[in-house]
Amino acid sequence: MCGDKMIYLDYSATTPVNKEVLETYNKVITDFIGNPNSSHRLGVEANELINKATNQIASILGINSNEIIYTSGATEANNTAIKGIALKYQNRGNHIITSPLEHSSVYGPLNYLQKNGFEVDFVNLKEDGTVDLEHLKELLKDTTILVSIGSVNSETGIVQPIQEISNILKNYKKCFFHVDATQSLGKHQINFDGIDLASFSAQKFYGMKGIGFLYCRTGVSIEPLIHGGRSTTSFRSGTPATALIVSMSKALRLSLDSIDNKHNYVKGLNNYLKENLNKYSDVCINSTDKSLPHILNISVMGIKPDTFMNALEQFNIYISSQSACSGSDKLSQAVYAITKDEKRATSSLRISLSHLTTMEELDTFLKIFDDILSQLKMK
Ligand code: PMP
Repeated sequence: MCGDKMIYLDYSATTPVNKEVLETYNKVITDFIGNPNSSHRLGVEANELINKATNQIASILGINSNEIIYTSGATEANNTAIKGIALKYQNRGNHIITSPLEHSSVYGPLNYLQKNGFEVDFVNLKEDGTVDLEHLKELLKDTTILVSIGSVNSETGIVQPIQEISNILKNYKKCFFHVDATQSLGKHQINFDGIDLASFSAQKFYGMKGIGFLYCRTGVSIEPLIHGGRSTTSFRSGTPATALIVSMSKALRLSLDSIDNKHNYVKGLNNYLKENLNKYSDVCINSTDKSLPHILNISVMGIKPDTFMNALEQFNIYISSQSACSGSDKLSQAVYAITKDEKRATSSLRISLSHLTTMEELDTFLKIFDDILSQLKMK
């Protein structure tokens, strides 16, 4: 490995922090030492800075400042949304609908709720991996209080028809719509129309790890997960993390800069990769035409994903087998859900791209991919 330049192709697991974001973080953590809840000047200054950052995030996303609940990331945002709605509205009903393509931080709270008397149904997917809207209509009932669907699946990049789902849910006044939009921000435009709650994490858009937020539409009330003292909202207590919040607003602004150009660039990279990988008879492309170009999921048939990943690592190349949060030795539920093929689902690899990825990196990756494949097939 010594001497090989690192090639990072795991941007969906996490992104490197943008240098300007880090500079903002360093400046704020050094210069604004006050607790934003303190009533003296240092506290007031920190509080004003947070308010400015919150207004900026809200204005960029076209939402209201009071609709932002800061969290430690999307895991906490998903837990806050799902448990928060279930506990608050359990007198209305106990039925929740989700999809087979969700992140473990959505299934975690749902499993917890199931053990505590809630009923969870999974909506079917169509062949392209998107939610079967007719099946969703069949599943909805008077007791449905929550539908939780991720906008982009982290393993396959499949984009769900969020607006169509929200249109269906408009007829179900007692049912809230939560969207885990963690893989969306900075990659494609998000329209909040009809969404009640949405989860985000700064580490996915070149911000710092340990900060995210939950969008919670005005009028939607949730039972807090974390009780305690004053914060920016009554839905989540704890001293607001001034530097993380301010740096996240910067990360957000920078990540949306020229978003269409970045998207088109990544699409070109994705097409190039697909064209080259399609030449191998033992490589299947699992991402569909509904996938974002930033995520390309493939299966190298007959080869364990970890074996392939480890071989690439010897050349300082980093991709992923499944999502970083799902553990590695099982079948990929997401790939199984769209392919219904156990072999494909146990040999899947995720290559995730960024506007920072270069063609040169892809050429090196493809050359080494070819060498490793030949060697592993000979074994
Ligand atoms: N949801 C999705 C779709 C994700 O990809 C991730 C991160 N892998 C999360 C939620 C959890 O985010 P965090 O680790 O920031 O809590």
